[in-house]
Amino acid sequence: MSSALRKLGLLFYVVDRNSTTFETPEEVPKIINEAIPMFTILLLLEIGVIFLTGRGRVRMGDILSSSGHGLLYEMGKLVVHLGELSLYQWMYQYRLLDLDWRSAVTWWTAALVTDFAYYWYHRAVHEVNIGWAAHQVHHSSQDYNLSTALRQSVFQRYFSLPAYTPLALLGIPLPAIIVHVQINLLYQFWIHTELVGTLGPLEWVFNTPSHHRVHHGANKWCLDKNYAGVLIIWDRIFGTFEAERRDQPGQEIAYGLVDQPQTHNTLSLQLFYYRAVFTKALSMSTWGDFFRALFYGPGWTPGSPRLGDPTTFPDVKAPRPVYGPKVPVWQQVYATTHYFICLMVQQILVTNSEVLSWEVMACHLVFIVVTLGVIGGIYDQRWWCAWLDVARCVTFLVYWTHVVSVIPWPALDSLMASILAASALLQASRALTGLWTSLTRQKKIIKKD
Ligand SMILES: [Zn+2]
Ligand SMILES: [Zn+2]
Repeated sequence: MSSALRKLGLLFYVVDRNSTTFETPEEVPKIINEAIPMFTILLLLEIGVIFLTGRGRVRMGDILSSSGHGLLYEMGKLVVHLGELSLYQWMYQYRLLDLDWRSAVTWWTAALVTDFAYYWYHRAVHEVNIGWAAHQVHHSSQDYNLSTALRQSVFQRYFSLPAYTPLALLGIPLPAIIVHVQINLLYQFWIHTELVGTLGPLEWVFNTPSHHRVHHGANKWCLDKNYAGVLIIWDRIFGTFEAERRDQPGQEIAYGLVDQPQTHNTLSLQLFYYRAVFTKALSMSTWGDFFRALFYGPGWTPGSPRLGDPTTFPDVKAPRPVYGPKVPVWQQVYATTHYFICLMVQQILVTNSEVLSWEVMACHLVFIVVTLGVIGGIYDQRWWCAWLDVARCVTFLVYWTHVVSVIPWPALDSLMASILAASALLQASRALTGLWTSLTRQKKIIKKD
């Protein structure tokens, strides 16, 4: 029980300093990954309350898409984490101060400067177009619930390096940074909800659901506001604070992006904006404007100020149409089942990353990516989805049964194999039925002509 309470406390930055102080980076636990059961329980509770009260909105396609981003984000860490750590350690040798890793001063300083660095890093990924290509992922949901917090960009962490690495010069030990970056991000989980109104005096100092709802708005008055991680004071100091306009007619928040992408596909949402950025840059007539298109704000156009001219931005108002094709219930059950298989494989990989070979890791990363592509295809009702799924199920059925078994429990291993075999048959019949229907339709059209 005390362990559950300790994990719950982490979500609110209520933590015991001694149990979150470490001498070496290897000792620091994967705090975010360990919080996944807690995320799941709280999300289920929130769904229950939303169904009972009718406040807020949850949709399975949106939740699976957000959770898929979370899975990819955790997998991405396995690839780049070592590089980040070495860069910080290299910088640390030039430190100006020598802070003792065991001291309370170090712990509190690390908490404060990490949050300060987060503010600037978050602001930068909003104000630099190529950074926004990564960060827009987090803003791409038209719903606002706890699952939205999981919607993280895989590539955004590269943009955090210029913000966090200089903290090495202050002499903050690397383990302290790894701890506080994780707790800072964990804190931001619970503020993604419409169920909490305002929190009195806490609103003056802390980032709260109310402040962060404004950050997720596509309305003109919400754009580029409330960048805080834990402390809202940074926004108040640097002039980016905006209070929520609750109960003001016409000021309801329309969540999502100004130009809302019409997809639930995790992979498309992770990548689509990079293309938009480079298309914009390549359309410029001078080299200067080419680089401005990459490094100025997403709203910048030639001749306008660095962040664009707000008078030309579309003023999005709520309610606006919400993307989401109708998906039969059985397909939603199918997609959810495969999401949980994906989650299980991801958890096995993350917890065994030190002992598994890179080939096994790579093959299962492909499994996770393709599964998320299939789930997105189901919620977008794409024709190719059934074909891709047949290929996925057959390939991994053969791989798991004949090459390498990644699931260490035989009963579960056979259950997974049966699910994949049944899924391959089901999707093959759907794919062939679809092909037959379109061929017969074409024949009829030809006959009519
Ligand atoms: Zn943001
Ligand atoms: Zn957010």
